[in-house]
Amino acid sequence: MTRRRPERKTRVLAADAAGVEAAAALLQAGRLVAFPTETVYGLGAHALDAAAVERIFEAKGRPADDPVIVHLAEAAELDRVAKPSPTAWQLADVFWPGPLSLVLPRRPEVPLQVTAGLETVGVRVPSHAVANALLRASGLPVAAPSANLFGRPSPTTAQHVLDDLNGRIEAVLDGGPTTVGLESTIVDLTSFSPRLLRPGGVSAEAIEAALGIHLHTASPFRDGPQAAPGMLPVHYSPRTPLTLITGRAARSRLAHEVALELDRGRRVGVIALAEDLSMLPDAVVTAEVGTWENAAGSASRLFEAVRSLDRASVDVILARDLADPETGLGRALADRLRRAAHRVLDSRD
Ligand code: AMP
Ligand code: MG
Repeated sequence: MTRRRPERKTRVLAADAAGVEAAAALLQAGRLVAFPTETVYGLGAHALDAAAVERIFEAKGRPADDPVIVHLAEAAELDRVAKPSPTAWQLADVFWPGPLSLVLPRRPEVPLQVTAGLETVGVRVPSHAVANALLRASGLPVAAPSANLFGRPSPTTAQHVLDDLNGRIEAVLDGGPTTVGLESTIVDLTSFSPRLLRPGGVSAEAIEAALGIHLHTASPFRDGPQAAPGMLPVHYSPRTPLTLITGRAARSRLAHEVALELDRGRRVGVIALAEDLSMLPDAVVTAEVGTWENAAGSASRLFEAVRSLDRASVDVILARDLADPETGLGRALADRLRRAAHRVLDSRD
């Protein structure tokens, strides 16, 4: 009989002063610690330590050409890692701390492992109290992508982190469920005019209002798969095939598709708006999110909904757009659903 090496377990640290101190010491020593932010749980490493950053990619199975966002305790630290422009300071003033990442020219101190070889770096100041305490206690810029295995939905609880990374990282600071629930908005300030690389927790409209300009959009669905590094069209995927229904008649088409799948003898899961629950047959496994008018509620529950349907071992997952895909947080929800989907049905067809 072969003996298996005992796996090292990931420590779960309480989000109190002692837990934060322990996590900060691990980061200083070049180890990996997952921590809560207002968007999703991040997998943190000392951003100026190339070997520590490489461990992020190993633990996640993340391709090396996907750059990682650097987290700072406050905007005043921007100069440590980036060369901020007046527009950067303007956006920092309005939206930090908060779910907005800025892409700026990189300082040479930032290892190319962080930026995937680019001369630019993504930077953000998170508003979550635990994230902020950790950044302050460590005194470091912290590189942190979402704390999930590559391709899986981002984690919004410490349990999600353990489900993906237990034994692969040193510790997770458990600060309870995250509030926003979707990743940060990313704006590139290194191109000719500001470009929205990823819709997220801060709406494009709010950024346009702050800058008084129109924000150009880079969409992997419109511009092809390599519109920006790491913007893979398929991402955040459940293991179970997900069909997304879009367009005006999506609600009735959802009911129709559910009935078809049940007729085929499949176990069906639905990521459901509260107003759709009553039209779904009892045989359907539902993961309730928000309402059409409450996109923030759906955003905070989307990734848990996807993971819970995976755990329920349904054969197929169905969903419709959860909010207006053209505005506000609805844009970020639409983006994540399209990346998670194995198939998109337009109900106008
Ligand atoms: P996350 O998935 O939240 O860890 O965010 C990482 C994503 O931020 C990457 O997949 C890129 O899309 C984006 N990103 C980070 N740094 C840069 C950069 N320097 N240039 C362009 N995009 C970046
Ligand atoms: Mg990610």
